[in-house]
Amino acid sequence: MDVILKGKYIIKCKIKAVTGLHIGEGNNSIEIGGIDNAVVKDAEGKPYIPGSSLKGKMRSLMEFAEGKVKDDLMVVAVKKGDKPEICIHMCDDKECPVCGLFGRNHGKHVTKKEFLKDPKAEGRDFSDAVIPTRLIVRDAKLIESSITDEMKENLDLEWTEVKFENNIDRITSKANPRQSERVPAGAEFSAEFVVNRYEVDGSDDGQLYLSKFIKAMKLLEDDYLGGQGSRGNGKVKFVDIEIVYKDSSDYEKDSNDLKPIATAPSLDQLKLATK
Ligand SMILES: [Zn+2]
Repeated sequence: MDVILKGKYIIKCKIKAVTGLHIGEGNNSIEIGGIDNAVVKDAEGKPYIPGSSLKGKMRSLMEFAEGKVKDDLMVVAVKKGDKPEICIHMCDDKECPVCGLFGRNHGKHVTKKEFLKDPKAEGRDFSDAVIPTRLIVRDAKLIESSITDEMKENLDLEWTEVKFENNIDRITSKANPRQSERVPAGAEFSAEFVVNRYEVDGSDDGQLYLSKFIKAMKLLEDDYLGGQGSRGNGKVKFVDIEIVYKDSSDYEKDSNDLKPIATAPSLDQLKLATK
C-alpha cells in the first residue's frame, strides 16, 4: 500500500462543560482522607480532559453511528475466561471510516463471533489495512479564567466541587453515601485535534475524514463525556472553533500565514470551505 501525507487539518476549539464533568482517574489512587471518586488532574493539580478519553468516547459513538456494532465486525479487546468482556469495532475494510479515522491496532484480533464459537480461536491480523492513524487528540487543558471567582465561592476544592450521592437500599432504606468530585458547569478546556489527510494508493482523502471527525464532535455533544452521564454529568459543547489546513508543502516554507478554512462560534454554525 502506498501512503502519502497530503496535509493536516488542525482543529482548535474550547470544550465547555455544560453540566458538571466527571472524568475519573481510576480507582488505584485512593488517598487516606481523600475523595474516593476523584477526577483526573495534571501535574499541577488542575483537572484536564485526557486526549484518550475524548478519542475513546468519539470512537465508540462513531461505531454505533456508522453501523459497525455487529458481532462479526467487533473484536475482543479484553476477555475474562471464556467470556468476551470488552469488544470494540476493528476491521480490515480499507474504506472503513471508523478504523480509518481512529486507527487499527497491530497484532492478531479475534472477532466476537469467532470467539463465541471458539474461545481459543487464533484470530488474524489486519496488517494489510494498517496505515498511520489519521486522528490525533491532544490533552485538553483547563482554561483557568473560565472558573470565575463567583464560581469558586461555591466550590469545595480549588477547581472542583464534591457531591455526595446516595444509593438507598429499597428494603432496609439504608443509605450508602458516596463522594464524587466534578468539574463545575461552565468550566472550559482548550482542545486541539489533528486530522491527517493521506493519499492511499492514488486516492486522496480530501475532506472525508475531517467531515467524519466533525460528525463525531456533534455526536459527542448529544451524548456525554466521562462518568455518571445518566445522572446528568458530562454534557459538553464545542465552542470558538477554528480549522486550519496545512498542506504538506507548507512545512517546507520558512513562514506561514495560513488562513483558517472555517471558524465558527459553535458546531451548528460551522461550514467548511473546500480545500
Ligand atoms: Zn472498521
